Amino acid sequence: MQGRLRIAIVGYGTAGQAAALFLSAQGHRLSIFEQAPVLGPVGAGFLLQPTGLGVLDRLGLSKPILERGQRIERLYGATPKGRSVMDMSYRDHAPDCFGLGLTRGSLFGVLHDAYADASEIAVGTRIDAIDSGDTLLDSEGRKHGPFDLIVVADGAHSRLRGLHPNNIKRQKLYPWGALWCLLPAESWAYPDQLQQRYAGTREMIGMLPVGQRTEHAGRWLTFYFSVPGEQLDHFDAAALAQLRERVAALWPEVEPLLATIAAPEQMHRARYRDVLLREPAQGKVVYIGDAAHAMSPQLGQGVNMALLDAETLADALAQSPSTDDALMAYRDRRRAHLAIYQRLSRWLTPWFQSERNSLAGVRDLGFGPLGRFALTRGHMLRILTGTKQSWWH
Ligand SMILES: Cc1cc2nc3c(=O)[nH]c(=O)nc-3n(C[C@H](O)[C@H](O)[C@H](O)COP(=O)(O)OP(=O)(O)OC[C@H]3O[C@@H](n4cnc5c(N)ncnc54)[C@H](O)[C@@H]3O)c2cc1C
Repeated sequence: MQGRLRIAIVGYGTAGQAAALFLSAQGHRLSIFEQAPVLGPVGAGFLLQPTGLGVLDRLGLSKPILERGQRIERLYGATPKGRSVMDMSYRDHAPDCFGLGLTRGSLFGVLHDAYADASEIAVGTRIDAIDSGDTLLDSEGRKHGPFDLIVVADGAHSRLRGLHPNNIKRQKLYPWGALWCLLPAESWAYPDQLQQRYAGTREMIGMLPVGQRTEHAGRWLTFYFSVPGEQLDHFDAAALAQLRERVAALWPEVEPLLATIAAPEQMHRARYRDVLLREPAQGKVVYIGDAAHAMSPQLGQGVNMALLDAETLADALAQSPSTDDALMAYRDRRRAHLAIYQRLSRWLTPWFQSERNSLAGVRDLGFGPLGRFALTRGHMLRILTGTKQSWWH
C-alpha cells in the first residue's frame, strides 16, 4: 500500500534472507549488507518446525526444502539407563504434522538460489552504526542510504542492537553452550527421530538426522554435545578424546560414528544468548530474528522465529498505510508468540543445561508422565511444533 520503499537489510542469515525474498517480491528496492567476505551458512544442522515450513511453503520453496531435508516424526529423549524423559510424536499434534531436519547449508542454499539479486549483496561490509536514524555507516567509514526502512538481522551477537541501549530489556549470555558437527548417517537406527540422551544436567547428547549435505553424498546427522561455555574456548585434542570417552560411556551406539572427527576444529562451537527488546522497532529501524530475540536452542525455534518475523514484517508493510503503522502492526502480531517462547526457553534451559544437577532427578521422574496426560501433552506438542500462541488456549 505504500509503494516502493528503499529498504536496507543488515545481515544475510536466515532472517535477512527470508526478508530479502518477501520484500523483493513486493517490489521494494533492497540494499543488503553482510559482514562475511563470502556468503555462506554457519553451523551444522537444525530442526525446522511446521511453523517455519509454512513460511517456506509461502515462498514457494517447500519442494526443494523437503527434498534436501529429513522428515522427523518423533522426539525421543532418555537417560543413559533407558528411562524415557521425552517422547513426543508430531502426528499426535495433527495427523500430517512433522518436523524437518536440515543442514544449515541446505536452508541457506535454497533461500539464496531463490533470491534473484544475490549478486548485488554487499559482502564483506560490516555495518557499525546508524546515522540520523536512516543512514548506515560501515566499518570503513562509508555511508549507505538514506533508507525508508532499515531491517536489522545481524543475529544473536548483534552489534547494532547496542545503538539503542535503553531498548534492551535483557541481554544475557547463557553459561552453557554446545559443540556441533555433521556425521554420515550410515546405518543410524533412528532415521526419522531426534534422539537425545541426558545424564544429569551437565551432559546432553543429541542426534538429529538432517538429510542431504551440499557437495557430499549420502545422508547426514547433526551430533551435539552440551558443554559449559568457558570450556568451548579451550576445546583441544585432549578435550575431544575426553568427549569420545563420555559418549562411549553414555551412548555407545553413537561413539563409532565419531570416527570421522579427527581434529577439534571439526566441531562448531556455539554460545547462546537470551535477548529481549522493549520494542522491536525504533524509528525507521526494525530488529528481526536473533538480533531482536535470541534464545537458547533448547526448544529448536530460532530459525522458525526468524522466518516468521520476515513474513510478518512483509505482510504488515503490504497491509498498512504507512511504515510507522506497519512497524506497530508487526510488533503486535509477533508479541505474544515471541513472549511465550522466550519465557519457555529461559525456564526450560536449566533443566537440561546447568550446574543444577538436582533438577535432573525431578525432570527424569516428572517429564515422562507430563507427556502422557492429555492436557499437558497437548501443550507440550504445541510448544514443540512452534504453534503455541497463548499460554492457555
Ligand atoms: C547450537 C545452536 C543450535 C540451534 N538449533 C536450532 C534448531 O534446531 N531449530 C531452530 O529453529 N533454531 C535453532 N537455532 C537458532 C538459530 O540458529 C537462530 O535462531 C537463527 O539462525 C537466527 O537467524 P538470524 O538470521 O537472526 O541470525 P544469524 O543466522 O546469526 O545471521 C546473522 C547474519 O548477520 C551477519 N552480521 C552480523 N553482524 C553484522 C554486521 N554488523 N553487519 C553486517 N552483517 C552482520 C552475520 O554474519 C550473519 O550472516 C540454534 C542455534 C544454535 C546456536
